[in-house]
Amino acid sequence: MKRVSILGATGSIGRNTLDLIARRPADYRVVALTGGRNIAALAQAATSLGAEIAVTAHDDLLGDLRDALAGSGVAAAAGATALEEAAARPADWVMSAIVGAAGLRPGLAALEQGATLALANKESLVAAGPLVMAAARRTGARVLPVDSEHSAIFQALAGEDPAAVRRVVITASGGAFRDWPLADLARATPAQAARHPNWDMGQRITIDSASMFNKALEMIEAREFFGFDPDRIEVVIHPESLVHALVGFCDGAMMAHVGTPDMRHAIGYALNWPERAELPVAPLDLVQAGQLTFRAPDLERYPALRLARAVMARGGLAGAGFNAAKERALDHFIAGRVGFPAMSEMVEAVLDRLDRQPGRLDGAVTLESVREIDQVSRALADDIAKEQAE
Ligand code: NDP
Repeated sequence: MKRVSILGATGSIGRNTLDLIARRPADYRVVALTGGRNIAALAQAATSLGAEIAVTAHDDLLGDLRDALAGSGVAAAAGATALEEAAARPADWVMSAIVGAAGLRPGLAALEQGATLALANKESLVAAGPLVMAAARRTGARVLPVDSEHSAIFQALAGEDPAAVRRVVITASGGAFRDWPLADLARATPAQAARHPNWDMGQRITIDSASMFNKALEMIEAREFFGFDPDRIEVVIHPESLVHALVGFCDGAMMAHVGTPDMRHAIGYALNWPERAELPVAPLDLVQAGQLTFRAPDLERYPALRLARAVMARGGLAGAGFNAAKERALDHFIAGRVGFPAMSEMVEAVLDRLDRQPGRLDGAVTLESVREIDQVSRALADDIAKEQAE
């Protein structure tokens, strides 16, 4: 029986993971489930699956969580330290599906105890890739990708010699504004940006798909996870979202991973790895799909892709600054304080200001240096948002 914990159990990835676990209750023992503000969903999942402990990230919600769990036998806890402790509880497999940089410390705690880490939280690799991968090497813990593109690459690489890889192609749907006139983007609302053409995901990643900040994070994630040279990482727009990624080899062969857009495939692959098991994912009907189309992304529409290349070239702590500035820019957009195109302008301005501070982006990637750059970048983003609003 596999002992599993889910960090971010109330989110889109978390719910899909719970769905897979609930289908095979005899195979899993649920250790810890964590969430944020959605106490009802957290308590419901913890009770029905008989978790040892449920943890909310918010101290002020501990009373609500205790009330919701009364009589269930599930322990309750709250706060950042409790999240890390939950992740550190002995488990065989931990899903890292908290959104944002907040997922870094709990993910590291899971690696430190040697659990296999199913990593959906790409932000931790973007902000602190060397730290995460070093923790895995040190403890012998496995990190398995959950992002559909990275799961696809991982699967295409199975049994292959990494030295034979010449290129990886990550596909992108192009998001909600793929076909909008560029001039209209300034008027785009958060609600419009949060409508993804193909995938059903959380609000933040869906808006990041419209701006392609999500794809920018994924380029950096591919670099950190697999160690690919940035020049070998390509992005193409593929409106059908059926090919998730391709790997090109030295003999000209390209291995494509193709399937219906359902995150339960990538989650289930990580859950069952190194085996494959039946999953509740609809098989792809190629005839009904009809065609697979690809086109080059327009860097004027998606400046985030250009910024990702600059971040990879800069190295050091640039990823941490980029991720934090992106998260803050998204907060400002969701709150209606800045327009859609202002997000990438804000992130670029933050990176410029960080780069102008001698040594700021250099130095080792440690929890402390990442935390500091994260805070400085968020403050810079707030300054720039004020300047943009004036
Ligand atoms: P959601 O917004 O749907 O869920 C996020 C989860 O994190 C919820 O459980 C939420 O709790 C919790 N949470 C939010 N803020 C905090 C915090 N500060 N501390 C602790 N927990 C917090 O996100 P998704 O499921 O869409 O995405 C999760 C991660 O997976 C992200 O890193 C995303 O990039 C990645 N990912 C997602 C995909 C998808 O299909 N959704 C695909 C590939 C990667 P609550 O809701 O209770 O407040």
